[in-house]
Order: sequence, then C-alpha cells, then structure tokens
Amino acid sequence: MGTISIQDIRPLNIADSPIIIAGPCSAETEQQTLDAAKALSAGGVKLFRTGIWKPRTMPGSFDGVGDPGLEWLKRVKRETGMFTATEVATVDHVNAALAAGIDIMWVGARTTANPFAMQDIADALRGHDEVTVLVKNPVNPDLDLWIGAIQRILNAGISRVGAVHRGFSSAGEHLYRNDPQWHIPFDLRRLAPGMTILCDPSHIGGKRELVHPLSQQALDMGFDGLMIEVHCDPDHAMSDSTQQITPDELKTILDRLVIRSGVPVEDELALLRQQIDDCDHELLAVLARRMSVSREIGEFKKANNLRVMQPQRYQNVLKNRLAEGERLSLDSDFVRRIMQAIHEESVRQQLD
Ligand code: PEP
Ligand code: MN
Repeated sequence: MGTISIQDIRPLNIADSPIIIAGPCSAETEQQTLDAAKALSAGGVKLFRTGIWKPRTMPGSFDGVGDPGLEWLKRVKRETGMFTATEVATVDHVNAALAAGIDIMWVGARTTANPFAMQDIADALRGHDEVTVLVKNPVNPDLDLWIGAIQRILNAGISRVGAVHRGFSSAGEHLYRNDPQWHIPFDLRRLAPGMTILCDPSHIGGKRELVHPLSQQALDMGFDGLMIEVHCDPDHAMSDSTQQITPDELKTILDRLVIRSGVPVEDELALLRQQIDDCDHELLAVLARRMSVSREIGEFKKANNLRVMQPQRYQNVLKNRLAEGERLSLDSDFVRRIMQAIHEESVRQQLD
C-alpha cells in the first residue's frame, strides 16, 4: 500500500462546515462528562472531546481519570450518538482507545514535539484506518516537527489525518496563553492544501473572553473548524478552568459566528496584519515589563539617595542600543527616537 504524503492528504469526511469539536478539557466524573455531552448534543454539536489522560506541566496536577473514563465516553456515544474524541500520548492509550471504539484520537502538543513518542503512537495505530487522528502543533514553533509527526501517522497507513493549531509556548506575560504565530499553520496549509486544519481558540487564548474573537478570526483565516473546551461548571473544572466556557456560551458564540464565503484560504493581507497585531501585543507587554523594572530602580534610587538621572548610564544604553539596532538593520534615527521616548517615560515614572 502506498503511503500518502502530506501534500496529498484529503479533507476529513465530516460534513459540518465549520467542524465543531467541543467538550471538557478533562473527564472528571461520569456525571460531569454526560452532562456536558448531553448539553452540547442538544445544542447541535456532533463531535465530543474530553481528556482522559492529561499530560500536565506540573507533577501533582490532576492528570486525568484514566481508563474508566473510556466507559463514560462509550456512554456518551450510546446515549447521544455523538462521535467521541480523546487525547492519546502512549501506546497503552492508543490500544485502550481502540478497544473502546473512540472515533477520533488527538495527539497533544507535548507529544507532537517528541518523535519517538509519535513513532510509537503511529506503530500502535497501524492497521486501524477506521480511526481519525488529529495532530496538534508541537509546543515550540517548529513547522517541520509538526509535519514530521503528521507524516509518521500517514506512514502507518492512517489516511484520515487532520491538524489542530493551538499556539506555541513562549516565555513572559502575553495576551495569549499560547502565541498563535498564524504564519505557521498557514505554511502548513500551503504544504498540505487538502488537509483539514482546525483551530483551538481555548488553548491559544487561555481565557474565556478570547474564545469568541479567536474563533471568528480563525474562520476568517480559512480554518476548517474549531476545537473548543466546554464544561458545565467551568469555575470548578479540574484543569484549564479559566478558558472553559459553558454549553450555553458555546451556543451563543456559534450562533454569532459569521461564516464569510469567498474569503481566500490564504488571505495574505489578513495574515500579515495579524502578524503586525501579534508584534504590537508583544511590544506593549515588553514595554510594560520595562516600565515596571524601571519603577523598581526608581524606588532603589530613592532608598539609597541616588539621583534619578544618571547621564553616563543613559549614554551607554543609547550607544549599545544603536549598535544592536544597526545589527538588526534598523534605522539609527528611528532607534534613537524610540530609546529617547522610552527613557523619558522611565524618568517620568521614577520621579512620580
Ligand atoms: C487539551 O486539549 O486539553 C490539551 C492538553 O491540549 P494541548 O496539547 O494543546 O495543550
Ligand atoms: Mn485543556
């Protein structure tokens, strides 16, 4: 049997447009899982997600209910007729999910980043072309790592493969929990034009209020659907509580989403503007951090009876920044004006 390569992947055979996969970050109890599924199903959602094995950043965090959760998913399927989706990260997970008849298995960002784990998962899936596999982007913004993970699944003879964009980890305070870096899924789209690519606004935004704007943005940019975390009592969710929304909130968002036809899949201008927006968010976050350090320095100077203005220090800073700007091909007048404006504001803050 010939192996499909990513440029030949076909769209998933899911009739909805956009495709909506929704459900709790984690299955916590049988009741919580069933309640969410029934509310979503009543609202017209046909694909149910929930995590049973949760790869958590910190040991000691709730890491999922494990195998018993599969029985709850079987009940969801039986009682609502929804298709079920869960995350797999090991061979044992794949085997247990296969035995439970899970329809869609997704590979999480931490696993996609690990080629050995991906190969093990692919080998465990071999011969099970009935399963749909969604590969989330790796935690780091590395398109090749994402493509490699997808290709390993294809090489195992699985043909129903899609991708989920959930943003990338980055250090520091940002508007988004995971930086979207939209150009990366767009590059994936260019290389795999037929592949179903979903967006996960819950993990990108990390906050409830960002789910709606990010969902609209994703559809405007040509994503084929959304994976959204939904919980009947988000404030008490055992994982990702700040980003989960209620089934009613999801319904409101879905009703409000504007499906624009004729928007080119690769709207270059929208993509470029998005990159500018991302840069501006970062610039402002960095400026806020700089001002806060500057105020701390101001306190230190006051406590130690030092003058706010230290001309020698300022001259050194300016000289270094100009040299750095030159290395980055930035106009030196421009760098000087920015540094002067920043310095003036720092002094003003320290004199406050
Ligand atoms: C999840 O979908 O709950 C999850 C853990 O996602 P990610 O791999 O994107 O962090
Ligand atoms: Mn989650």
